Amino acid sequence: MTSRATQIAVLGSTGSIGRSTLEVIAASEGELAAVALTAHSRTHQLARQASRMRPRWIVVTDTAAAAEASWRKDLPPGVEVKVGESGLRQVVTDPAVDVVVAAIVGSAGLLSTWAALEAGKTVALANKETLVVAGPLVVELARRTGARLLPIDSEHSAIFQCLQAGRPEEVRRVALTASGGPFLRHTAEELDQVTVADALAHPTWDMGRKITVDSATMMNKALEIVEARWLFGLRPEQISVVVHPQSVVHSLVEFVDGAVFAQLSPPDMKLPIHYALTYPRRQRSIATKLDWSRAFSLQFEPPDFERFPALEMGLEVARAGGTSGAVLNAANEAAVAGFLAGQLPFSQIVPACRDVLRHHDFDQNPSLERLLELDRWARQEISRCTTC
Ligand code: NAD
Ligand code: MG
Repeated sequence: MTSRATQIAVLGSTGSIGRSTLEVIAASEGELAAVALTAHSRTHQLARQASRMRPRWIVVTDTAAAAEASWRKDLPPGVEVKVGESGLRQVVTDPAVDVVVAAIVGSAGLLSTWAALEAGKTVALANKETLVVAGPLVVELARRTGARLLPIDSEHSAIFQCLQAGRPEEVRRVALTASGGPFLRHTAEELDQVTVADALAHPTWDMGRKITVDSATMMNKALEIVEARWLFGLRPEQISVVVHPQSVVHSLVEFVDGAVFAQLSPPDMKLPIHYALTYPRRQRSIATKLDWSRAFSLQFEPPDFERFPALEMGLEVARAGGTSGAVLNAANEAAVAGFLAGQLPFSQIVPACRDVLRHHDFDQNPSLERLLELDRWARQEISRCTTC
C-alpha cells in the first residue's frame, strides 16, 4: 500500500453503529485505522475495543464512569484516556484525525459533531439528531469551513448515491423508504397495548434502543424527513415516505424526466458506513450481499398517517424550520426514555411530543445557544408529564 491509513475517530464506538464501524475498519486491510474511540459509560467494553483496535486515544464522556478505577487495568499500554465533552473536542479537532464518525445517540452528539465541522474535518454522520436540532446552522458551518458532511443513515446514504445520477436542479423529489417497524399492521387499539419488549423487536434492523423505539412510532422517519431537508437542501414538498417492509431499497430519487433511481442492498449498516469512509471510491466490503439465486419480491405502499401521526409532525417541522426541530427531537428523546423506563405508554410518545412542540416559543432564526436551551426546556416539559 502506498498511502497512509485514513485516521478515524469513532464517536460512540460501543453502540450499534460504532461496533459496525470497527468491523469495517478491521476488515479494511490497513486502509482505515481507528485513531480514537469513545463511549459514554461502558468502560469495560471500550477497553476491550481499545485492545483490539489500538487507538491513540479513548474518551469516556460520563465522568463518574471514567473515575471508577477497575476498567483501566484492561487498557493496552500507550492509549491515552480523555474524559468528558472536552475530551471529545480535543480528539475531533486534533490534526491527526482525518474522519470523524458521529455515532453518539441523540442531541448529546451535537457539540462534538459541531467541533469536528468547525475544525474542517470530514464527518461521517450517523447522528441524525444533529441535523434535526440545528440543520441550517450545521450545514452553513460545514460550507464555511469546507468540511465534508457524509451521511451514514441508510436512507440518506442511498439518496446521496442516487443523486450522483443527475444535477441538483434536475431532482423532482425523493422518497424515503420506511420498513414500517414492528407495528406496521397494528390497529390503534393494539398500539395502546405495546410493551417495551414488543417495541424493541424490530423486524429487519438490529439497532440501539432509542432508534428502535423511534422506528416503532415512525418518529425515526419523521426525523429523517428533517435530516434530508437540510442535508440535501430539498424543499419539504420534494420529500415523501414510502413503506417498504423488506428494507432492501434504501430510498429513491426521481429526476424531472421521471427516471427513478434506487439503491438496493440487504439491511446492513456496514455498507453505508464503508461508503462514507472511502467516498468517493467504492471498495470491496464485508456488507451482506443480495442473493439473486432465490426468488424474492419487494413491496411498496403509502404510509398510514392516521396510525402513525409522527410522520405528519416530521413534515410540519421540515416546513417550519427554526426552533421546531430542536423541540421535537428533545421531546422525543425524553418521551422515549420515559417509555423505556415504564413511565409513559407507547401510544403517548407522539402525542406528548406534539403537545410540547405546539406550545413552545417558536423562533425562526435561533442561535445554537437558543436551540440548546430549548432542548433542555422540552425535556423538562416531558418529564413533567411523565411524573404527574
Ligand atoms: P446506540 O445506543 O447503540 O449507541 C450509542 C453510542 O453513543 C454508545 O457508544 C454510547 O456510549 C454513546 N453515548 C450515549 N449517550 C452518550 C452521551 N450522553 N455522550 C456521549 N456518548 C454517548 O445507538 P446507535 O443505534 O448506534 O445509534 C447511534 C446514532 O446513529 C443515532 O443517532 C441513530 O439515530 C443513528 N443511526 C443508527 C442506525 C443503526 O442501525 N443503529 C441507523 C441509522 C442511524
Ligand atoms: Mg435510517
